[in-house]
Amino acid sequence: MKAIIIGAGIGGIATSIRLAKKGYDVEVYEQNSYPGGKLSVFEQDGFRFDAGPSLFTLPEMVDDLVALQKDNSQIKFPYKKLDESCRYFWEDGKKLTAYTKPEKFGEEVEKVLGVPAEVIVNYIKKAEFKYEKSAKIFLEKSLHKTSTFLSKEILPALLNIYKFDLFESMNQVNESQLKDPKLVQLFNRFATYNGSDPYQAPGILTSIANLELNRGTFYPEAGMYQITDTLCKVAESLGVNFHFNAGVEKIAVENKRATGIYQNGQMIPADLVVSNMDIYPTYKRLLADQKQPEAILNQERSSSALIFYWGIDKEFNELGLHNIFFSDDYKKEFQHIFKSKTIAADPTIYVNITSKHTQSDAPKGMENWFVMVNVPSNSGQDWDQLIPEIKTSVLSKLSRILDTDILNHIKTESILEPRTIESKTSSYQGALYGSSSNNRYSAFLRHPNFHQKIKALYFSGGSVHPGGGIPLCLLSAKIIDDLSPEIS
Ligand SMILES: Cc1cc2nc3c(=O)[nH]c(=O)nc-3n(C[C@H](O)[C@H](O)[C@H](O)COP(=O)(O)OP(=O)(O)OC[C@H]3O[C@@H](n4cnc5c(N)ncnc54)[C@H](O)[C@@H]3O)c2cc1C
Repeated sequence: MKAIIIGAGIGGIATSIRLAKKGYDVEVYEQNSYPGGKLSVFEQDGFRFDAGPSLFTLPEMVDDLVALQKDNSQIKFPYKKLDESCRYFWEDGKKLTAYTKPEKFGEEVEKVLGVPAEVIVNYIKKAEFKYEKSAKIFLEKSLHKTSTFLSKEILPALLNIYKFDLFESMNQVNESQLKDPKLVQLFNRFATYNGSDPYQAPGILTSIANLELNRGTFYPEAGMYQITDTLCKVAESLGVNFHFNAGVEKIAVENKRATGIYQNGQMIPADLVVSNMDIYPTYKRLLADQKQPEAILNQERSSSALIFYWGIDKEFNELGLHNIFFSDDYKKEFQHIFKSKTIAADPTIYVNITSKHTQSDAPKGMENWFVMVNVPSNSGQDWDQLIPEIKTSVLSKLSRILDTDILNHIKTESILEPRTIESKTSSYQGALYGSSSNNRYSAFLRHPNFHQKIKALYFSGGSVHPGGGIPLCLLSAKIIDDLSPEIS
């Protein structure tokens, strides 16, 4: 049985491992010259930059895949659990460090903001409860199979559904539980972990905080790209064949069954086809002559991002691996992203510095800064005008809060923005996470991991169920493993 996977994003690589382990002959066709899609890497003038994801939670999902390697392959995936998850900065001079143990974070909140520690501890307990009860049903299984709703996990989930805060927004839940405006802002930020708006996204997403602040924040020893690199090695150990510079033009369908792909004008037959390409172009380009699920395809996109990769010729002791510089008006920032589809004058800035942990990522005495602002997906905005404007406000905010003229310290620069995210990964409109989760039904509105009318056709990655972000992309591969035929 031969399986073809279109795309070597993290979801495609994970699917290749699972299908190869199941006994399929697996071929991966990737349009780029490198694997990883959004989770890729580059070097510039002596600085190493992870191009996309920087926050790593639920490492056991990578461990599960590494454990599938061919016997004696000796492939290791070293990573560490971090004590600190993120450093937060506000314009009024307040600084707060979030820790990955609720009690320790609670103590810090009490010291800095005067809010009793148990407010944090109780909040995270509730987030943990929501995550534990809902993940089995909403994330780990297909929502489009009756068997899911007959499974033993469904009863506890249904009995507790009224505790999931489905009918309030994240902001409403946070305001009622946390009250302090800085804490509300800090916990609202978790909506951006799947590219959504905390003022619209359902309260169940407050469960995301449980991952970083309770289960833990992790860091692969050699940076995030190590995830892609390790999983490619595991796939190769199982006999998976990667074809690079090999964009797929079409999925072949005969008698309502996927029979292969067209690549470079040639039909390549397969018994099973998986598209790891964003679901929108999968339909519009690879399945153009099939019925299009317009309601699913036309859902609101998640946010995109503008990233400045800066090689900085100075070290900043007040910064850690993850740092956030908050805007003064968070609500306005999200209204700009999702309503007026532009960028507020004072956006929240995220700065990730892997050289804090992997010293070789920057020359001695220097740091590699990944400076990111959430922006709307690309709907034709004038990015050439917007990008320099945002760069000016980012520089002035960072220089103000860090009391240093940052522009003077930038030795090298590269930029990623919605248009280039789309051209490099085919993600529709450059959205980071497929469709947004701004709707309480969004979990049900994502495309299933299989085609309901075309047999032997599956979908993995961040634009389909269960959603975007590394852990969910890895889960999409697991669901395909559960749904695909066994090899007799
Ligand atoms: C800037 C940024 C920051 C992020 N931060 C985080 C974070 O901190 N934590 C986190 O968990 N997630 C984060 N994410 C999201 C995360 O990166 C994605 O959810 C995940 O990597 C998507 O993986 P995927 O499997 O959907 O594939 P993608 O990475 O989208 O890759 C799809 C692959 O398919 C290939 N392809 C497309 N069309 C074709 C074709 N026709 N033929 C052949 N190949 C094709 C593409 O070239 C690409 O390699 C971030 C993303 C970005 C861009």
